[in-house]
Amino acid sequence: MEQRHVQENSIHVLLVSYPIQGHVAPFIKLAYLFAGRGIKVTLVITEFVHASLVAAHPELDGEQYDQVRLVAVPDGLPKEDVRNDECKMGESVFKVMPGHVENLLNKANLEGNQVTCVIADAVFGWALEIAEKMELKSALFWPSAPGVLALTLNIRRLIEAGVIDSNGTPTMKRNKVQLSSDLPPVTSADIVWSYPGNESTQKIMFQHFFAIHQNVKKSDWLLCNWFQELNPSVGDLVPNMFPLGPLLANGKPAGNFWPEDSTCLGWLNRQPVGSVVYVAFGSSSMFSQHQIDELALGLELLGRPFLWVNRSDLINGSSAKFPDGYEKRVANHGKMVHWAPQEKVLAHPAIACFLTHCGWNSTMDGISMGVPFLCWPYFADQFYNRSCICNGYKVGLCLNPDDYGIVTRHEIRRKLDGLLADEGIKANATKLKQMAEESISGGGSSANNLERFIEHMKQ
Ligand code: UDP
Repeated sequence: MEQRHVQENSIHVLLVSYPIQGHVAPFIKLAYLFAGRGIKVTLVITEFVHASLVAAHPELDGEQYDQVRLVAVPDGLPKEDVRNDECKMGESVFKVMPGHVENLLNKANLEGNQVTCVIADAVFGWALEIAEKMELKSALFWPSAPGVLALTLNIRRLIEAGVIDSNGTPTMKRNKVQLSSDLPPVTSADIVWSYPGNESTQKIMFQHFFAIHQNVKKSDWLLCNWFQELNPSVGDLVPNMFPLGPLLANGKPAGNFWPEDSTCLGWLNRQPVGSVVYVAFGSSSMFSQHQIDELALGLELLGRPFLWVNRSDLINGSSAKFPDGYEKRVANHGKMVHWAPQEKVLAHPAIACFLTHCGWNSTMDGISMGVPFLCWPYFADQFYNRSCICNGYKVGLCLNPDDYGIVTRHEIRRKLDGLLADEGIKANATKLKQMAEESISGGGSSANNLERFIEHMKQ
């Protein structure tokens, strides 16, 4: 055992995350997973992300936290840029990050702090080339869903089935294709790079996923945030896939860019078991004020306790306003915060269900805690994640907009009532939670994959 620990101590992993919330959060949890095994970990993020992380979690502002060292590099944009244009930020990061990462690796060598393995975001194919040049072990990390991985790796099949055309543009026909036996059929509405009405973003996103497709083919190790049993057949499509999830913060800083309002935990303690609807839409969903009014009134009609994350930029850069007199009327059973400690919230016994945008991290948070979902996707991978949640895993229901594109208060109330009365969905959610727990316990599939990867890094 002692010998084994010494060997693990000689591994130094450099993790390189793409600089957005939904990628940095699982990367930091991956960092904790390795650090928990006595492995030296350095996580590379951009200076902008570092400043946000430290503002949200002051305990991260030091040499290292829990054996994880954070290193910040410039993203190439002017300091004053607000970084809300993802295409512009992506372009800049691709230009400047390879040079910074190579410098870091050289510096670590000079200081006798050699990195032995580079694990990069699946979008950063250049990191594989740097690792190869420096004769380091390498792997990619995929922070999204198994279904989206299947889409990304099957672009040819999507074209053949008429779901997208040869330029990657969703055809908007009703054609369907099923990529593997335990994934629901894909239609053009599920395509992750689909941005109807925004052709240039759609084109950039298609190129982005096509690049990921090529990167994944080059890497022998693709680490992922789910567990094998969630979609066993995806493993047949991607033999180099090593699910290590669910990745959890387990009480450590969860890699959030916004400070968490922990008063909601005390509030949850005062609510009956299984009573609260938790409403949160991740880091980038946006709504119109009219849509927010309908949501507010739908939650009020429900007449149950609810905890609602009203992010400070939920409506085009500012937080939502509530209907006249609303806060007073719901004061006894509604709690609004700007950002919640989501993992802790979902684990709380008072939670009944999760009204979510279906981001993959939120999906894994909910699955890990055995919570039924009400799905309200906004963009990108969230539509196919919704299909997986509702039609594949059968742990949730979907909200449908009306003819004007609005999800009405009545639809919200009706679906929440239906979800909370659905014993089948509850039982499926509890079963998935158990499977998730087993996968990361000794001898479970994710625990075994972690062992295999650590053995590989030692060789
Ligand atoms: N999250 C949180 N508190 C909130 C809302 C979200 O901690 O109030 C976290 C959540 O646990 C997840 C991340 O923010 O780790 C959101 O990632 P996801 O992939 O679900 O959505 P995205 O932000 O990428 O759209």
